[in-house]
Amino acid sequence: MSTTKTRPKVGILGGGQLGRMLLQAAANYHVETFVLENDSECPAAHLCHHFTKGDIRDFDAVYNFGKGLDAITIEIENVNVEALEKLESEGVKVFPKPSVLKTIKNKILQKQYYKEHQIPTSDFKITNHYAEIAEMEDFLPGVHKLGEGGYDGRGVQIINTKSDISKGFEKPAILEKMVVIDKEIAIIIAINEKNETAIYPPVTMVFDPDLNLLDYQLSPSELVQQVLWKIEAVALAVVRNFKSPGIFAVELFIDKKGDVFVNETAPRVHNSGHHTIEAHYSSQFDMLWRVMLGYPLGNTRFILPSLMLNIIGANGYSGDVVYEGLEEVLKIENAFVHIYGKKQTKPGRKMGHITILSNEKQDLLHKANKIKHGLIVKSV
Ligand code: ADP
Repeated sequence: MSTTKTRPKVGILGGGQLGRMLLQAAANYHVETFVLENDSECPAAHLCHHFTKGDIRDFDAVYNFGKGLDAITIEIENVNVEALEKLESEGVKVFPKPSVLKTIKNKILQKQYYKEHQIPTSDFKITNHYAEIAEMEDFLPGVHKLGEGGYDGRGVQIINTKSDISKGFEKPAILEKMVVIDKEIAIIIAINEKNETAIYPPVTMVFDPDLNLLDYQLSPSELVQQVLWKIEAVALAVVRNFKSPGIFAVELFIDKKGDVFVNETAPRVHNSGHHTIEAHYSSQFDMLWRVMLGYPLGNTRFILPSLMLNIIGANGYSGDVVYEGLEEVLKIENAFVHIYGKKQTKPGRKMGHITILSNEKQDLLHKANKIKHGLIVKSV
């Protein structure tokens, strides 16, 4: 697309924070941007050239939105894939390809994909009713995951023993063997239409056990060289076998022995890549534009190590948002604040994120702690 004389028209399905940050990066390029989203007050609505109100899960809405565009991408997997397939057949470039979305949207198909391509992942069984788990007692402890529709920990249930079985799902799902996790890692890889790849250094994700949401994330991960190579090789195999240009975030578990298991893949810009805005030469958002516009891939190296934490709606507050303690946070050296522009807060809602840069891990953790206690997302 780099030789196109006119300004390419590129659409994004979904108008949340990922779309917003993608549009911030688009401002540096020769591109006309479009967003489809049901909520006209969404984080991305005011940053695109053209906003269309509509349901990204609806065939007609997606097809009509996409048919005049040169390229289209997503910021969430839960979109109408059939419309994207039709658009693709009519010459609209889709990043990632609809075939990839089909596989990834459904955790059953996703796990089968890993198995087919000899990609290490925890062993699993398919279920339609939770009662079937009773026959799988030898497989426990396990993690029951809804095939479609779960996100941010919703749609995931830990089944330790037979007595937990009723916590499971009554829809098509997978029961995965529980991995004794030492580290949770994410690695972002971009792949362009020439099949060239650019790999970001892996990051370590630390989760909040109560909210099941990311607590903070450190970049780069502290890994022994062999584990790093293994992760890169496994993640590259995941991405290359999709045979689709785009940007991919591969989430992996490492156990105490250093064995690596792919948990899941997102075929899009991802929460685990927010730090790349300030901490890396080319951010994940910049990179996706390079892929979509046919430009050379960017530099994935980091400028400084970083810690990223999400700004989450505090418990007990719902309604019009206020950010208590923001000024103190802005005084912290090398702490970069991103507020997503969501008008309403609710407990656990992702309202923004902060990236801190420092050469010293202790400094990163100290500052993160200060922020966690000093910044509270309340409602008026
Ligand atoms: P979601 O897509 O909703 O984020 P995930 O599949 O990533 O759900 O699971 C959420 C969390 O549950 C993971 O980050 C991990 O901590 C835990 N988890 C998921 N699968 C396993 C597993 N097989 N073994 C151990 N822990 C797991």
